[in-house]
Amino acid sequence: MVAPEMTPFAKVGGLADVVGSLPKALAKMGHDVRIVLPYYGSIAFGENWKPLDGPLVVHLNYGHNQFCKVWEIPYGNAQHSFTVYLLEHHDYFGRPEVYAGPWGDHIDNGGRFTFLSRAALDLCYRLNWMPDVIHAHDWTTGFIPLYLNSVELHRPLGQAACVFTIHNLQHQGIFERSLLDFAGIPQEFFRSDCVESMGFVNMMKGAIYTATKVTTVSPNYASEIQTPEYGCGLQHVLKFKAADVIGVLNGIDNELWDPQTDTHIPKQFSIKDLSGKIACKEALQKRLNLEVAAEKPIFAVISRFVDQKGLDLLLNISHWLMESMCIQIAVLGTGEFALESGFSQLTAQYPRQIGSYIGYSNELAHLINAGSDFLLMPSRFEPCGLTQLYAMRYGTLPIARSTGGLVDTIEQYIEGRGMGTGFLFDEISSNALYYTIGWACSTFYDRKKEFRQLQVNAMSKDFSWDQSAHKYEQVYTWAIQSRRGKP
Ligand code: ADP
Repeated sequence: MVAPEMTPFAKVGGLADVVGSLPKALAKMGHDVRIVLPYYGSIAFGENWKPLDGPLVVHLNYGHNQFCKVWEIPYGNAQHSFTVYLLEHHDYFGRPEVYAGPWGDHIDNGGRFTFLSRAALDLCYRLNWMPDVIHAHDWTTGFIPLYLNSVELHRPLGQAACVFTIHNLQHQGIFERSLLDFAGIPQEFFRSDCVESMGFVNMMKGAIYTATKVTTVSPNYASEIQTPEYGCGLQHVLKFKAADVIGVLNGIDNELWDPQTDTHIPKQFSIKDLSGKIACKEALQKRLNLEVAAEKPIFAVISRFVDQKGLDLLLNISHWLMESMCIQIAVLGTGEFALESGFSQLTAQYPRQIGSYIGYSNELAHLINAGSDFLLMPSRFEPCGLTQLYAMRYGTLPIARSTGGLVDTIEQYIEGRGMGTGFLFDEISSNALYYTIGWACSTFYDRKKEFRQLQVNAMSKDFSWDQSAHKYEQVYTWAIQSRRGKP
C-alpha cells in the first residue's frame, strides 16, 4: 500500500484510519502487507526503526535521480504483523504537515507525491520484493498505475495489479503538464482519455483510467460519483470505468475504538451496562465547561472544518436551537477560519450550553464519542464517514444527511417501533437539520425506552474490518487475474 497518511504516524482524516487498520486485517488473513509512507517532520522517531543500508535511488525525470533514506518499521503484533517503510526526504517531507500549511496547500505537492509514488516502486526493486497488488490511496498516489502501464510495463513490476481507492473525489491533484516530465511518465499519456484534463495533469483522473480496479469507500458513494451531483467533473470517466468501480465499505479498528477497553475515557462501559457513559458525559461537560447535567442531551461534532461537512448549516441555526431546545452542543474541529470563529463566538455567547475545542485532539474525540448522546454529520457529501461508526460503537446516535456512506451505515429510526440506529434527513438545509435535531431531542426526552433501544441497536452493529477485508481480498484477486490476462 502506498498512502499519504496512516494512523498513528500521520493523520488528517479517515484515510489515515483506513490505512492504519485495513493492513492489520489483511495481515491476519495471511497476506504479506507492506506500506510506504512519507516521514513527515511531525512523526516522532521510534525505537524499533531500522534504516535500510544506503540511500534509495528514486528514478525521476528520465535519469535525474533523487535519493532518500528509508526507515523500516516492524508493525502490529503476533496475530497481524506487517512492515511500514517511511521515506525520509527533508525538502519534500521535512515539514510537519501532510498536504497544507498555514498558507494553504503546499505548492510543491505535485512533486512531493510524485516522489512518494516513484519511490514506492523503486523500493520494491531495492527490496527485491514484487507485490501481486499495489493498493494506492487517493490522488497523491495517482501516478502509480500510470507508471505500471508505462515505464514499468515491461519490467518486473509491470506484472503487479493496481487497486486505486478513491477516499474523496473532491481532491484530484491538478498540476501543470510539466509534472509528467518530472515524473518520467511519457507525454503520450497526456490525453483526455487518460491524465489530461482541461490542459492540466489530473492525477485522480489518470489513476481512474489506468488502475486495474478502482474502489471507493462505500457502495452508495460508488454509485453517487457516477452522477453530475457528486462526480466532481469525473462522472463520465467513472461511468466509463463502471464495471471496474467497486464500493467497499470502510471498517474500523475495534481495538482502538472500544468503550470496554478505551483508556482515553474516565469510565469504560458496554452494551450491557451503559452506566460508565454517564461518567463520561460528566467528564466531557467539565472538560468543555458545559453545565454538568446528565439529563440534558449533548449533540456533538467531531470534524474537519470544511465545506463538505455542512457545518455552516449548524452554525445558521445554533441561536435558534439554544433558544428553543434544552440541549448542549460539544464541538471538536479545526479548519476553515469562518467555521472556527463561528463556533468560538457561539461558545463565548452560550458558555454553559455550547463547548468547543478548536484544534485536533484524538483523546478528546474518544471522550466526545463516549460522553455524547448524538453526533451531528450534516455532510453535503460523505464518501464513507468513520466518525458515525465510532459514535455508534459508543452508543452515540448519528444525526446525518442521507448521502454516501452515511446511508450505507446508519439505519433510519422508525418511531414507535424502536428500530434504527440514527436519524437521517435528505435536504441540504438548515431547516431539515433543525427539525431532525428536534426529532432526536424529543426522542431523548419523551421516548426514553426507544432512545435506549436505539443505543443498543447502534452498539450491536459490527463495523469491524472482518467483512470488508474479505471484500478487498476479492477485489485484489480480480485485479490480479485481470492484470495477468486470466478470465
Ligand atoms: P474525513 O476523512 O472526511 O475527515 P471521516 O469521518 O472518515 O472524515 O474521518 C474523520 C476522522 O478524523 C475520524 O477518526 C475523526 O475522529 C477524526 N477527526 C476529525 N477531526 C478531528 C479533530 N479535530 N480532532 C481529533 N480527531 C478528529
